[in-house]
Amino acid sequence: MAIERTLSIIKPDATRRNLTGKIAAKFEEAGLRIVASKRIHLSLAQAQAFYGVHKDRPFFGELTEFMASEPVVVQVLEGEGAIAKNREVMGATNPANAADGTIRKEFALSMGENSVHGSDAAETAAVEIAFFFSGLELVG
Ligand code: ADP
Ligand code: MG
Repeated sequence: MAIERTLSIIKPDATRRNLTGKIAAKFEEAGLRIVASKRIHLSLAQAQAFYGVHKDRPFFGELTEFMASEPVVVQVLEGEGAIAKNREVMGATNPANAADGTIRKEFALSMGENSVHGSDAAETAAVEIAFFFSGLELVG
């Protein structure tokens, strides 16, 4: 399998509860390398732009207000099959359905406040990484 890069966001429910390190450890334990990382506070407009694909969904307002409510940590994860591997480590969107040992099973509070975002395909990973990072900031 090819070496890939994927975008991860540690969401406000997790940064608020001081879970940044525990979540980063899950990525590293799974063999994903954190090749870029920064803590930022998204504006509402930035959150709306990032989640534009969901703009017609009923939860769009709740999601974007939540993502802009407190700081997040955006990271680029690199490794063999990193996009699918990260989705595996994250667990299902709804923590009630997430497998044991996954980030969302251990830490998520609800379907909305579910601790992490991860890109879902190669095309979205490329767009999402470029949304937050310049090439100079990716240090493999
Ligand atoms: P994932 O983050 O697992 O890729 P989606 O892309 O479907 O999930 O949704 C993006 C984010 O929107 C979810 O992680 C979650 O924070 C929020 N969300 C999704 N569905 C709901 C819902 N029914 N109610 C509230 N928030 C939701
Ligand atoms: Mg998604």
